Amino acid sequence: MRIAVLKERAAGETRVAATPETVKKFIGLGASFAVEEGAGETSAITDEDYRAAGADVLPMAQAVAGADIVLGVQAPDVMTLTGAKPGAMVAATFDPFRDKDRVDLYAKAGFEALAMEFMPRITRAQSMDVLSSQSNLSGYKAVLAAANQYGRAFPMMMTAAGTVSAAKCFVMGVGVAGLQAIATAKRLGAQVSATDVRSATREQIMSLGAKPVFVESVEGIEGEGSGGYATEMSEEYQKAQAELVSSHIAKQDIVITTALIPGRAAPRLISDAQIATMRKGSVIFDLAVAQGGNVEGSVADEVVERHGVFIMGYSNTPAHLAPDASALFSRNLFNFLSAFWDKETGTVTLDEEIGDAVRLTKGGAVVNERLKG
Ligand code: NAD
Repeated sequence: MRIAVLKERAAGETRVAATPETVKKFIGLGASFAVEEGAGETSAITDEDYRAAGADVLPMAQAVAGADIVLGVQAPDVMTLTGAKPGAMVAATFDPFRDKDRVDLYAKAGFEALAMEFMPRITRAQSMDVLSSQSNLSGYKAVLAAANQYGRAFPMMMTAAGTVSAAKCFVMGVGVAGLQAIATAKRLGAQVSATDVRSATREQIMSLGAKPVFVESVEGIEGEGSGGYATEMSEEYQKAQAELVSSHIAKQDIVITTALIPGRAAPRLISDAQIATMRKGSVIFDLAVAQGGNVEGSVADEVVERHGVFIMGYSNTPAHLAPDASALFSRNLFNFLSAFWDKETGTVTLDEEIGDAVRLTKGGAVVNERLKG
């Protein structure tokens, strides 16, 4: 079994889909491994590191030649896969709802596209889940970036020259990124509050020592919601939420928004009018900026100033922590493929539950239920 990893070509992508650690582990399973020259550079991994782990480090076309499996952070252009085995597996993120053309091209080329963001939220797949591993780092980075932009301190400081009061930080959306954002802001000494539409997050917020802020008048999503995810909320809920946010946000210094709904644009949580009520110098970090944004006026990779408030967000937050993000992403890929690896035959056979969830294309067709209709 030949596995190939190419240099990521998407703008701003600094991660890589294999590290020397996972190269060694795949070789331990009996695979041979090819890495494109310079693939690890932006994640602080040299070609020499890959060679020492047992990989062949080659120019792109030679690296991909004869590959049975290609690994990527973002799915490579089909053009770059010329020379891979017919029907080769390509495991990467595909952004399948927004990039349907790419999915079609993979189908036409006959590859088996495996979308890592479609990994089911089940216990045994936790170690394979790139959304979780990358969101966790994103939540951390969002707070650090906001703290850096904020002209005041996070912790309360009692000094001979007087007291500096603690920053007030509000986290909106308490999934994996939100939980890490709460924990990070707490570690930095902020007073933290948080909200979500899922009732199950109330306890999680409190267990991190933060204050839950919830819409009480209209019912949200009881428990975890389908597959753990949120759905679009009713108009009545959205109105009640806007009122709650308006009264709370005026007293906040830092707001981190993380709300996403799979397959849809991110819900709008903060309006320009609400931003106008915040103290000058406050910072809003919109982690959903690349999915349409939770915050009115947010622009990816820019710091926008509105009413004296800074609004920011990155198009690719984990790429700002490339060595750690690559290490976790690569382990997710290894955990995924090794779970279905037959050492004797040297083949990978996915089971129904996980295979049907992640497989986008096979045998020349788009086969994923979530992409049909
Ligand atoms: P996500 O990135 O899809 O969304 C972030 C958060 O935003 C979610 O908590 C969501 O409820 C919230 N949200 C959506 N609309 C909102 C709105 N209008 N206002 C406020 N908040 C809103 O979430 P995620 O990090 O992928 O986590 C989703 C769930 O999946 C969680 O319950 C998490 O614990 C669970 N999970 C399970 C596994 C597993 O079992 N393998 C792995 C990861 C996550």
